[in-house]
Amino acid sequence: MRINILTIFPEMFTPLRASMLGRAIDNGILELCITDIRDYTLDKHNRVDDTPYGGGAGMVMQVQPILDAFRGSNFGGTVLYMSPRGEMLTGELARELSGLDEITILCGHYEGVDQRVLDSLEAREVSIGDYILTGGELPAMVLIDTMARFIEGVLSSEESALDESVYSGLLEYPQYSKPRVYEGMEVPEVLLSGNHQEISKWRWEESLRLTSERRPDLMEKYLERPHELTRKEKAILDKYRKQ
Ligand code: SAM
Repeated sequence: MRINILTIFPEMFTPLRASMLGRAIDNGILELCITDIRDYTLDKHNRVDDTPYGGGAGMVMQVQPILDAFRGSNFGGTVLYMSPRGEMLTGELARELSGLDEITILCGHYEGVDQRVLDSLEAREVSIGDYILTGGELPAMVLIDTMARFIEGVLSSEESALDESVYSGLLEYPQYSKPRVYEGMEVPEVLLSGNHQEISKWRWEESLRLTSERRPDLMEKYLERPHELTRKEKAILDKYRKQ
């Protein structure tokens, strides 16, 4: 997958070259092409922003440098503009986008970008949450990271992409590793038992408990879903239904 980025802070994308994403780039699974919008401005002072028509606070990123940067870099594919006005980023959206061959992500700053950029590029606006960040670079990295996890070869197996909190329908159970006791804190006995059936049951029950405590919205959806359960498991789930 080719991911193009239009930004005025290309150096902010260095973290993408670490860890799993860095490996995916090295292995050619992901191709990252970053263009500094400022390289394309025709302004003699190198500016890319100006005051908004109609007045008001702040500055607006101008249409000329962005469209010239897009065309001059031969960018294409689906254009995404990171924006608090956009559709909310979810696992479902990330999975859908991960199936594309090429995307171009535009990162805004100041009060945002001239509307004509978005109209001309037919940009799809994507938000990472109901809060405001200074620029679109961190949201773009969040989008790239979560999207990349769905691309074959980025994770060690397809299974692990969906076997996670939220995607599985429940929040994940608590995890433990060595040592068995640390500063008096012990690992739950059942995890040391070697009884895989009991371990699965404990993990499922912990997931149910955490989800009902922290995310009643997810729990409600989970309870509505049909499940293939044993009698014992059905009794456990009924307990949560009654709550
Ligand atoms: N004036 C804009 C508004 O009210 O919608 C907010 C501008 S914000 C200070 C600057 C840039 O940060 C935006 O153009 C966008 O690219 C990015 N940004 C800020 N919050 C975001 C969010 N929650 N999701 C995605 N991008 C965001």
